[in-house]
Amino acid sequence: GTMLDVSGLTKIYPDGTLAVDGIDFTVDAGDFCVIIGPSGCGKSTTLHSLVGNLDVTSGTISLDGTDITDQPTHTRDIGLVFQDFQLFPHLTVAENIVYGLEQMGLDDQEKRRRTERLLEMMQLEELADRDPEELSAGQKQRVALARSLVLEPKLLLLDEPLGDMDYKLQKRMERELLRIHREFDTTFIYVTHDQTQAMRLADQIIVMNDGQVEQSGSVAEIYNSP
Ligand code: ADP
Ligand code: ADP
Repeated sequence: GTMLDVSGLTKIYPDGTLAVDGIDFTVDAGDFCVIIGPSGCGKSTTLHSLVGNLDVTSGTISLDGTDITDQPTHTRDIGLVFQDFQLFPHLTVAENIVYGLEQMGLDDQEKRRRTERLLEMMQLEELADRDPEELSAGQKQRVALARSLVLEPKLLLLDEPLGDMDYKLQKRMERELLRIHREFDTTFIYVTHDQTQAMRLADQIIVMNDGQVEQSGSVAEIYNSP
């Protein structure tokens, strides 16, 4: 069924830039949805509107049937992984992963269970006590993913998360992402400007251009259409 329902979403920045121009789309629960489009077409603005980092100008965002358009970020149950990871440099790998859990009022046993599961899944056990600066790009990306996934969000948004990696690492991380998506039984919205990545990853593709949704459908529907 439908998990996310975006209707008439519009964002005009204070300087008058119309970044997102009344877009409509839905995402089914469990899908790996990819939003693709050229730089400046409004992809990041869309993600930051969904997660609640931006006040939208108009439109509605519903998650599992609840209107979350005006809800504060931390109550939305939507995670965001940034391209540049944004790990806390003064915290270890494990502390970075645990950090968001501290605000959730879970008991220590549940915090430990979730942290250990993520360290294991991301193959980060050996790196748990390292500082982020000691890690490679791929390892940092796994920590960033773990830090979001440990909160068990209904929906995880990924903003060009493999953008700065070389091709070989990108391909490996794509396989990781597909595995994680499957194992966590979660819903992803993944933003990229790379069409080949979209074709490899997506259950559903949303094509954006100039602040609008141009097309939406399966890989076959988007790329094999006459
Ligand atoms: P994308 O993620 O597809 O590259 P963005 O959502 O970042 O696109 O940007 C969409 C449009 O909004 C672009 O024209 C961009 O220059 C503009 N924009 C982004 N952030 C701001 C801002 N804070 N203030 C004004 N304009 C912005
Ligand atoms: P507390 O705030 O209870 O002192 P922490 O903030 O250090 O604990 O960690 C929260 C939870 O995450 C704890 O239950 C702890 O056992 C677990 N945790 C912290 N570091 C690690 C690690 N390296 N490996 C596995 N679990 C960890």
